[in-house]
Parts: sequence; C-alpha cells; structure tokens
Amino acid sequence: MENCIFCKIVRGEVPGMKVLETERTLAFMDIARDVDGHILVIPRKHCKSILDCDEVTLGHLMETVRLVSRHLTDHCGYDGVNLLNASGESAGQSVPHFHIHIIPRKSGDGLDTWPSLPGAQHPLEETFRRIAMK
Ligand code: AMP
Repeated sequence: MENCIFCKIVRGEVPGMKVLETERTLAFMDIARDVDGHILVIPRKHCKSILDCDEVTLGHLMETVRLVSRHLTDHCGYDGVNLLNASGESAGQSVPHFHIHIIPRKSGDGLDTWPSLPGAQHPLEETFRRIAMK
C-alpha cells in the first residue's frame, strides 16, 4: 500500500528498529515511548486488521508474536507479555495495517494494561443468544 506507514517500514522507506525480520513478518519497536519494550508485530503483506487477514498470513504473524514473546521472557528478563490489538477505527485502531502490540511484563511492575470496562448492560444469556455462532 503506497501511503501506509507500516508498508513503508517494510519497504525500508521509513526507518524502523527491527527486533525480528522473517520472510512474511516484521517485529519493530513502537515509537510511542509509553512503556519500555513496546513492540509491534506486522505481516509484510498489507491487510487492515484481523477482519481481512487471511489464515496463512495470520498464522505467520502469530508465530512471530510467539517467537518475540519467548525471546522477551527467555532472554530479556521479562516474566510475561500482554498482547493488544485494535481492529477497526471503532476499536481504536489508528494505523490501518494489521499489528499486534507486545507489552513485556515483569512481576510487580504495576502496569495497568487491561482496559477498565463499564460493565455489561444486558443479561449474559441474552447476549450469548445474539452472538453465538450457529
Ligand atoms: P493502534 O492505535 O493500535 O493502531 O497502534 C498504532 C501504533 O503504531 C501506535 O502505538 C504508534 O505509536 C505506532 N506507530 C505509529 N507510527 C509508527 C512508526 N513509524 N514506527 C513505530 N511505531 C509507530
């Protein structure tokens, strides 16, 4: 995609601090500076989000997520990771090239990476009937 910032990183037109490069994926440092070790994993092939990503690409992406996560816990002193993703503008996605955020975690680091949600408005059974896949 011509004007996609992450495609530009893939093509080397925009610099990226690449943590891992594979044939089909890239992991690089997020520039947000919100927490140390924030990494993004993307497919080289452009897709917008999980909603239009094909199965093979998704498989490669998740394998890279696993490899980077294991690297963080096995070699970088972290104990776990949070994986975050926004798919669609309504979900808060700001860059429309599919990416998984990896937030490395240490026991007792005090980070609050889980969203504080307002509470369900409908009975659980009712919502279940509406969204259950037939
Ligand atoms: P999201 O809001 O889930 O779509 O996340 C987009 C992420 O991309 C944000 O965390 C940004 O900090 C990050 N980002 C945007 N541009 C760049 C860039 N050129 N290099 C690295 N990360 C970027």
